[in-house]
Order: sequence, then structure tokens, then C-alpha cells
Amino acid sequence: MKAVELLRPEAVVLTPSYAAYLAENFDLREASVERVLVAGEPGGGEPAFRAKLEDGWGARVFEAMGIGDIGVSLFGECEEQDGMHLGARGFVHAELIDPETGDALPVEDAASGELVLTHLQHRAAPLLRFRTRDHVQVRTSPCPCGRTAPRLRCIGRTDDMLIVRGVNVFPSAIREVVSAFAPDVSGHILVKPETPGVKQEPPLPVSVELARGVTDDGALADAISERLRDALVVRTRVELVPWGSLRRSEYKSTLVER
Ligand SMILES: [Zn+2]
Repeated sequence: MKAVELLRPEAVVLTPSYAAYLAENFDLREASVERVLVAGEPGGGEPAFRAKLEDGWGARVFEAMGIGDIGVSLFGECEEQDGMHLGARGFVHAELIDPETGDALPVEDAASGELVLTHLQHRAAPLLRFRTRDHVQVRTSPCPCGRTAPRLRCIGRTDDMLIVRGVNVFPSAIREVVSAFAPDVSGHILVKPETPGVKQEPPLPVSVELARGVTDDGALADAISERLRDALVVRTRVELVPWGSLRRSEYKSTLVER
């Protein structure tokens, strides 16, 4: 915060969790920042989460993505804010796979799967078909900006994925659905699987934090649970918790607690 006050930058680069933490604790709308570039974890591309960041910062939010092992910045969003273009085309080859079977999936519009990357021009220790553990959705439709590289949106980490009665569920997707209940909710959630492993029996326990000053009216938990079932085809048990009770992160958020 001191750095923003003293240096008056037009842009800042941080994790979405840290951007949200600052927006929650400081009034940034009058600050100098016009662009917030977020990277390092999913979140910046979720519409409700992004809207909250843009409102809190009074700035436009853009997302970028890279993987330390392959290249620190490989994908970046253009002014259309509609997914991250692959900026490293020709240097890195991108593929999609089914994370469970490892089978290759066609990279076509709306396809989703785990992102797999291969170095094309690296001379020392090139990596072949490196599994990023990022679950992404691809957009290949023409972008009004003119760039022709495919774009993608990170839906969540393969490591965080749960399978509830055969349905793949990403905690970040749960957060996105829950965030639409703002201003009643803070946007912070925690998924608490009752058994170890990926496969879970419904209902899946989810803690949802209320917004500051909001109390449980008795109907909100059911409404959230119903919306989650409609949107993600998963049965959940929603527990509402008071504002400030879920841990904030100044780096990356933990969305699953076992
Ligand atoms: Zn574009």
C-alpha cells in the first residue's frame, strides 16, 4: 500500500488473492492504479471475482499465466479481457489432456482439460509434454484485438479437483457461483471434503463466508446450495460462517481443507 501511495503507479502486478486482500482492507478507488495484472493462481478470470476486484481497485483487471518450469509468462490477456492469448506460440507447444486418463483432447473452441506444454526451442534440458496441473478452457473464436493465438481461461488446479458422483468439481468454480450472491457473501469459501482422495460422496461440505454486517436469514444457505446444484450438478451442504472467519491469504488462497 505504501508503495502505491509513494510511487503512484498506473499498474500493479500481484496474485488475485493479494489484490482482493488489499481491496478489502484499503480504499483504493482513488489510488493511481488503472490496471491490475493478476497471475499465479486461478481467480482473476472468474467474472464475479474480477468484478469485485475491478470495483475495489477502480481499475481494469487483466490476467496472465506462466509456469516456472516452462516459462514465467506464456499467456496474457489483451484489452478485450476475454481469456489469455498464448504469447509464446512457436516457442512452446500447448496441448490438452484428460487429467484422469492422460488421453489427448482436441484444442478447439470451448474444449477443456489439463494444459500440457512442450518446449520447442529450448536447448538445455527441454521439457516434453510437461503436465501443468492447470485445468483450462480454450477459446479459438476470432478475438476483436486481431491476435490469432488461442486464448484460455484457467478453471482450477487439477490437484484441487474433486469428483462427486462422477462429476468433476473445481473449488474455484464453486467460489464463482457463490460470489454471485454478493453483497450477501464476502466471496471467500472453503470446501471441506470428509474423506481423503479425489472421489467424494454428496453432499459436499462447503463453508461460505457472509459479507460484513450480514446475518444468516435462514434461506441463503439453501439458495446457494440450489444454485450450485443447477450450475455445477453437485449436491453440497452449505454452512454460512460470519465475516472474517475464513483465512485471508496475502499470497495464494487455499480453497480446500481436509
Ligand atoms: Zn485478443
